[in-house]
Amino acid sequence: MSDELSQLALELRRHLAWQEQDGTRTLLKDPKAPPLFAQAPATQARPQPVQPAPVPAAKAPARTLEEVRKELGDCRRCKLCQGRKTIVFGVGNPKAELVFVGEGPGAEEDSQGIPFVGAAGQLLTKMIEAMKFKRDDVYICNVVKCRPPGNRNPEPDELEACEPFLKAQLASIQPKAIVALGKFAAQTLLRDSTAITRLRGQWRSYEGIPLMPTYHPAYLLRQPGEKKLAWMDLQEVMKRFGKAP
Ligand code: SF4
Repeated sequence: MSDELSQLALELRRHLAWQEQDGTRTLLKDPKAPPLFAQAPATQARPQPVQPAPVPAAKAPARTLEEVRKELGDCRRCKLCQGRKTIVFGVGNPKAELVFVGEGPGAEEDSQGIPFVGAAGQLLTKMIEAMKFKRDDVYICNVVKCRPPGNRNPEPDELEACEPFLKAQLASIQPKAIVALGKFAAQTLLRDSTAITRLRGQWRSYEGIPLMPTYHPAYLLRQPGEKKLAWMDLQEVMKRFGKAP
């Protein structure tokens, strides 16, 4: 009998050792032991209704050019108003795909109230036609709308005062491309003080609109040897419109 008990005890020790190796700590189920697998709660949380994405606020429609001109009024926002005869707002197709932005009116433009009508304007017209556009197809304006006295460069406060109206013009027209003529147009629109000699010929972006900086026609009249570079820039614009140079 004692042999049987010894054998049983031996078997029990072996079994316990085997269970301990297997990670089992207790022989009997502990009523407080957590279940091996979490039970799903009796009542599932209700799925929350999907909130519809907020509808983005509708973008305010751009003003028409007439509305922008009306807001400009008899502008006296900067000192250029003192010597001007007329405000030279802009000319051309209000739905133009291509816009040329120059610097500011000269004497002839100041007299007529139309941008680019003097000698530089005649050269610009030739450039536009060489690009297989008509002058009436495009829109032409300047960064400042009043003539700087003695054709001096526009000053920073003048550029700053007039820029909102240029921006409003471009927002109204929404062209497919802009040609910035000369340093002041390119630097003002691009917020980049890099020299025009380095800006020119490289596509940039103005509020998502491709912008090509090139030389101002007045500069080309003084430096005719640079016309070939300007023509290279304009050919890039032609390509963008699918026109063969
Ligand atoms: S240049 Fe522009 S901001 Fe200055 S007075 Fe003329 S329209 Fe007004």
